[in-house]
Amino acid sequence: MNFEEIKDKEQKYMMHTYGRFQTALVSGKGASAKGADGKDYIDFTSGIGVNSLGYCDEGWVKAVTSQAAAIQHISNLYYSPLQVKVAEKLCSLTGMDKVFLCNSGAEANECAIKIARKYSYDKYGIGRQKILTLVNSFHGRTVTTLAATGQDVFHNFFFPFTEGFEYVTANDTDDFKAHISDEICAVFIELIQGEGGVMPLSEEFVSEIAKVCSEKDILLMIDEVQTGVARTGTFYCYEQYGIKPDVVTSAKGLGGGLPIGACLCNEKLSSVMTPGTHGTTFGGNPIACAAANEVLSRVATNEFLADVCKKGEYFREKLSAMPNVKEIRGKGMMIGIVTEKDNAKEIAAKCVDAGLLILTAKNLLRLLPPLTITYDEIDKGLKILQSVMEA
Ligand SMILES: *Cc1c(COP(=O)(O)O)cnc(C)c1O
Repeated sequence: MNFEEIKDKEQKYMMHTYGRFQTALVSGKGASAKGADGKDYIDFTSGIGVNSLGYCDEGWVKAVTSQAAAIQHISNLYYSPLQVKVAEKLCSLTGMDKVFLCNSGAEANECAIKIARKYSYDKYGIGRQKILTLVNSFHGRTVTTLAATGQDVFHNFFFPFTEGFEYVTANDTDDFKAHISDEICAVFIELIQGEGGVMPLSEEFVSEIAKVCSEKDILLMIDEVQTGVARTGTFYCYEQYGIKPDVVTSAKGLGGGLPIGACLCNEKLSSVMTPGTHGTTFGGNPIACAAANEVLSRVATNEFLADVCKKGEYFREKLSAMPNVKEIRGKGMMIGIVTEKDNAKEIAAKCVDAGLLILTAKNLLRLLPPLTITYDEIDKGLKILQSVMEA
């Protein structure tokens, strides 16, 4: 099928839930992808922060294909050596105590929300079930994670939404304090709001939240779905804030391209979830776990993390010398670019025509390149971006 045929069939047979860029991708290697009509692209998106090792990394392909040939799915009625390896790695990398494996970011966040409510219910009873999230946050597309998402545009059509969320203005300590009451069981935040426009939280704001949470037995829950798994230059972004969360959620880059999510909790919460309180058919699927084990064994070394920081710096240095660049935000290889002309959507579409895949978030350009991208690939992509920014 050529691109036009694919597009026609998409229009005819698929629900129109996505505004898509004008290309179909059929193969890839590293940070390069090929379109259905044979066009080559440099990829600064990694499938929205998913393909952490790039397209078709050799070790990753081997891990996934050999697992597919051994056993593809076993359900959670049986023990799985691959699940326990993923969980052990996540715990030893973070000092967290227990892991629940699922298939996506939204599901990891649902688990976090359930843990918060049950912990509070078990200990304090009814009436302490509210969760504070941030204005401009993004936590997923299920009815409950939409409710957790602090953006009015998402609170539409699908009424009634799940109750029990209140929204605090990011980096506003007074607003945070004004929302604290005996009804609050948890605070759930992204440390860099990704979909919200690559907005990092200030250290003062986060330390204040951490302080109040620990004083009042309010759970501190961090959504690391986008920032996690080495994306920002540390294994999880919270390490850079010097905090110890009670719950951490992870997905996107964790499986390097296969659907896997994880909800991690500390020792205090280790026995909150009991048999029958939560579950999933696909979660912790052996092939997804084999993929995650490969990713975890590769990205969590000091050398790899230092390299992510170095490449992030390289991006920043080159970008700051580029026309139409007003401000650069983010950490490591999670990069947001405010343009002078406020024309990010237009730039992104033009980049695709010119052979560069690039994201937007709100009115920013957003880069989430594969963590293994080479300097040669970075240079090629930036050259295309430069030519589009100049035009
Ligand atoms: C992408 C994202 C989610 C949702 O993840 P899905 O896998 O699409 O369900 C949740 N939180 C954050 C911060 C995200 O970036």
